[in-house]
Order: sequence, then C-alpha cells, then structure tokens
Amino acid sequence: MIHVKKAFVIGHPIKHSRSPLIHGSWLAEHGIDGSYEAIDVAPDALPAFIERLRQGEFVGGNVTIPHKEAVFALCDSVDPLARTIGAANTLVRQPDGRIHGFNTDYMGFLGNLDQNAPGWAAGLGRAVVLGAGGAARAILVALREQGVPEIVLLNRTPEKAAALAREIGGPFIAGGLTDYADYAAGAGLLVNTTSIGMHDTRFEALDLGLLPGTALVTDIVYVPLTTPLLADARALGLRTVDGLGMLLHQAVPGFAAWFGVRPEVTSALRAKVEATL
Ligand code: NAP
Repeated sequence: MIHVKKAFVIGHPIKHSRSPLIHGSWLAEHGIDGSYEAIDVAPDALPAFIERLRQGEFVGGNVTIPHKEAVFALCDSVDPLARTIGAANTLVRQPDGRIHGFNTDYMGFLGNLDQNAPGWAAGLGRAVVLGAGGAARAILVALREQGVPEIVLLNRTPEKAAALAREIGGPFIAGGLTDYADYAAGAGLLVNTTSIGMHDTRFEALDLGLLPGTALVTDIVYVPLTTPLLADARALGLRTVDGLGMLLHQAVPGFAAWFGVRPEVTSALRAKVEATL
C-alpha cells in the first residue's frame, strides 16, 4: 500500500538528470505529498528494479539511457506509439501491479514547438531531420503524425538513416549529411537530433543560408542552450526553438499520470532549470 506517492528516474549514469528538479518543483507547486528521485540502475539490475515498481514501492517513473529499449520486455503493456517509436521513457504502475510503458519524447518535441513557435506545422511542405539515433525515432513519428508531407532524414551514417526510415515507415527520404544542400531550399523546418552542438562541436558544412527565410530551426541539444546551429540561424534572422522546452514538456504526461495533476511548463520553471545548465 503506497502512502506517499513515490516516482523515479532511472538511468546509468543518472546524477546529471534535471528531472528531479522539474518534478520536485511541480510537487511543491501543487502541494502534493510525493517524491521524485534519481536512481542509478545498472543494466543487469533493471529487472529487479522493475519488480520493486510492480510490488508497489513506486507509482511510476521515467526511464533514460541506456534502459529505454530494454524496459520494453519488462512492461506488461506498451502504448502503440511507444511500440512504433521502439522505446519507452515513462512507466506507470496500474492498481493491479501491471506496468504500462509509454513514450513522452514525442509529446515533448511537439509541445515545445507548439509553445514556442505556434502554428509551426501549418503549410509545412518539407522537414529536414539531422540524425538517426534514439531521439530521432520519436521526432520522426511526431512529424509523420503531424502530416508533414516530406521528411528528409540525413545522418552521418546514411545506412542508419535508410534503415530507420524503413523501420518506422512514412514519407521519408533518407540520405547522408552531405546531401543537405539538395534539400535545404524547400525545407520549412530543420531539426537537429544529433549530439553535435555539445562539447564545442558544430556542423562544419551546413549552409543555413540555403534555407528559406521563413524556416524554423530547432535543436534538441540543450547543453549549451544556444548551440552553434541556433546561433548561426539567429544571425541569419531565422526563427529558432531551443531544446530545453522538449525536456520540460516531455515531463508533463508522466507527472499527470502519477500524481493526478497536469502541470504547466512556465517561464519560472524554465528559468530554474536553465540556471543549472
Ligand atoms: P544517439 O542515439 O547516440 O544518436 C546520436 C546521433 O548523433 C546519431 O545520429 C549519430 O550519427 C549522430 N552523431 C554523433 N556524433 C556525430 C558526429 N561527430 N558527426 C555527425 N553525427 C554525429 O543519441 P540520442 O539519444 O538520439 O541523443 C542525441 C542528442 O539529443 C543528445 O545530445 C541528447 O542529449 C539529446 N536529447 C535531448 C532531448 C531533449 O529533451 N531535449 C531528448 C533526447 C535526447 P551516427 O548514426 O552516424 O553515429
């Protein structure tokens, strides 16, 4: 029997996670008698940890690298969207102990753009997505579900882009980063889902001047908050949305499921998290 509702984020490593700050702020704001803690769980300890959830120690939690795919096999049910994406990042314990998994990166990506670039999808003909790793999966499904007619997926390793496009299925064109110039002119949206931008890295041969002047550029890397890609886009007068909003918005559905209140992503919360970057 749970008294104080306890939730978690598990990963390996996990100590740099901002999720406890986000959920802790919402718990305090709504006066909820609950907790949210970061717990380091090594891959071989994952099944035992999930059993603790099943037994009722927690109401649910978030799952991050490297467990997002492995946790699938341990869930009793998985949301169809998470199955399409191929990863679950949020778990909810049902009253009977069954564990339901879903993916909120999808909602986080869309919620961020909806809040910071309202109407972004209207009339969008082509989106260019850079990167074909774990995060790209949810974003490709999100863009497909928004009805974007042409989604160009470019990756350093083009074979991975082609394989991901085949696996997910949709109006995808796959290629290498070097194909960017062929697709930039008609792209109303450019999304970076690679880790480039972190640790002083930048795209060397990506001419943002080839994009239409109305294009929106968004980066899911949020450390640093203004990546070189976003700085270059702003210098050209293009609209930009940074990646911190995705992190904040992806936290909303889990909190709502565990604690029964749908929290807001406010500028005060954003400022609090931004101060830790
Ligand atoms: P991942 O699965 O490891 O994928 C990494 C991607 O980056 C791959 O497409 C990889 O290309 C590409 N890449 C890495 N180094 C590169 C380089 N030097 N040049 C060109 N491409 C390179 O990682 P992930 O989980 O998708 O995460 C990617 C980034 O998104 C991370 O920085 C993560 O922190 C961030 N993220 C942010 C949020 C958010 O809420 N804002 C959510 C999830 C992830 P190859 O396939 O060729 O290796």
